[in-house]
Amino acid sequence: MPRHTSFRFRLDPSVEQEHVLSQHVGAARFAFNQALRLHKNARAAAERGQGRDSTPEAAGGPDDHPGRDVSDAIHVPWTGFDLINGFNKWKRSEAAGRRFLVAPTGMTRMEVTGLAWQGRVLAQVFEEACVDLGRGLKAFTDSRTVTRKGPKVGFPRFKKKGPMGGSFRIRNTTGKGRASVRVGDGERVRSVTLPKIGVLRVRECTRRLRRMIAKDRARILFVTVSRGASRWWISITVEAADLHPARRHTPPPIEPPRRENSWVGVDRGLHALAVAGSSDGVEVLRLNNPRALRRGLPRLRRLSKAVSRKKKGSKNRKKAVVRLGRQHARIRDRRRHLLHQVSNQLVKNHALLVLEDLNITGMRSNPKLSRAISDAAWGELARQITYKQAWRSGQVVVADRWFPSSKTCSSCGTVRKDLTLKDRVFECRGCGLVLDRDLNAAVNLAAWAENHTLPVDDGAGRGVARVGDRQADGPVNNAHRQDTPTHPGSRGLGGKGLDDVGTNLQTAPAA
Ligand SMILES: [Zn+2]
Repeated sequence: MPRHTSFRFRLDPSVEQEHVLSQHVGAARFAFNQALRLHKNARAAAERGQGRDSTPEAAGGPDDHPGRDVSDAIHVPWTGFDLINGFNKWKRSEAAGRRFLVAPTGMTRMEVTGLAWQGRVLAQVFEEACVDLGRGLKAFTDSRTVTRKGPKVGFPRFKKKGPMGGSFRIRNTTGKGRASVRVGDGERVRSVTLPKIGVLRVRECTRRLRRMIAKDRARILFVTVSRGASRWWISITVEAADLHPARRHTPPPIEPPRRENSWVGVDRGLHALAVAGSSDGVEVLRLNNPRALRRGLPRLRRLSKAVSRKKKGSKNRKKAVVRLGRQHARIRDRRRHLLHQVSNQLVKNHALLVLEDLNITGMRSNPKLSRAISDAAWGELARQITYKQAWRSGQVVVADRWFPSSKTCSSCGTVRKDLTLKDRVFECRGCGLVLDRDLNAAVNLAAWAENHTLPVDDGAGRGVARVGDRQADGPVNNAHRQDTPTHPGSRGLGGKGLDDVGTNLQTAPAA
């Protein structure tokens, strides 16, 4: 299984390099917009053709050819491949650039130059922008034909020019025995070398990535350079080797039958971002929601007001836009850091995870909760847990959407229909259980998985869990819980940073 992962570094370009990078960002935006224009024009022309066909004699113009299907002649580019071809044809055409030459005799001759500045940027940047548009168009059509999950995707829009934002992508190619994208080339260890652009300095240590490449454990696929709020970033996507077996979960033998309490339920909420618990009622992780966005909101409001007060097109407005962008980035980074920590902590310690199937799009339609839900980034957390668990050969299942994990008593099974969002503590009327609401839900999820998954022999004497009806996307392979670090109240992270992931497994005694 190819494991795709990326390394993100902050770039430290010189003034000249920054200019070149800006040119590439502009070129990517230009190609995207031009390809979109070509697509729209072709579609409009094709539709006009069809309209004329249905009423052949209605228009009756002099250059009307009845009987000829015009839409056949017009090819509408939809895929990245077609868009690249369309764009390449256009960039060499008269429409992209021409000049008039006046001979000494007074004769004027037109020369088609094509896109005048195309040689200044890497041609790949145009191609990748067309590929992006192709993906956008596909997401739009898939979304309309219901083959795509999640919220509706709109038709691609033209990209705006601005003092920040934008990115471009470069594929890594191998020629003359060496890669076109290199990390730590020559003496400069903290650098990335890109074709046509040269050696770019990065701020962070590249050692891990360099070692992986040197040991043939990673291969660079492509890089994305993006412009933040007055900052440049490079994201290097690699195809990496599987994680070391010691960092993966091992499937349990089918005999004896599965261990109890091996599943861990993860309840995602607003009060606590994530609470994880096993079916015996033990809380294994709790992370209070720091509400990254809410905390930064007053400043965000102030800065966005500052933008709208500035005169359009002025230098001060540009500066204010960058300041606002920096605040957005700060919030985003805080959130991203936290989500990675939580998901790492969960997949590192628990081989079998259960999530509830949240109708996030539906819940966000509640205006009072919408922002808080976006801030909690439940969907992103589930995505990270799912792919990271696959790397470790663990398993993630998704409980039935209609399973009332919050309203059911985890001890006796009584359902309390009158439980509201305000009730932070679950009090059972049947057996008198009093338990934290989120932990109760997590315990229910763990128990749900234990009752709904059956260990099936995978042919090698190992147990592979199968869910009756629903299950998470991704490979289904099984494992057991390896340890149970329970630190209630210690925010569950034990002060570990992302760099420590997988290097030092905690070995608290099993509960
Ligand atoms: Zn009860």
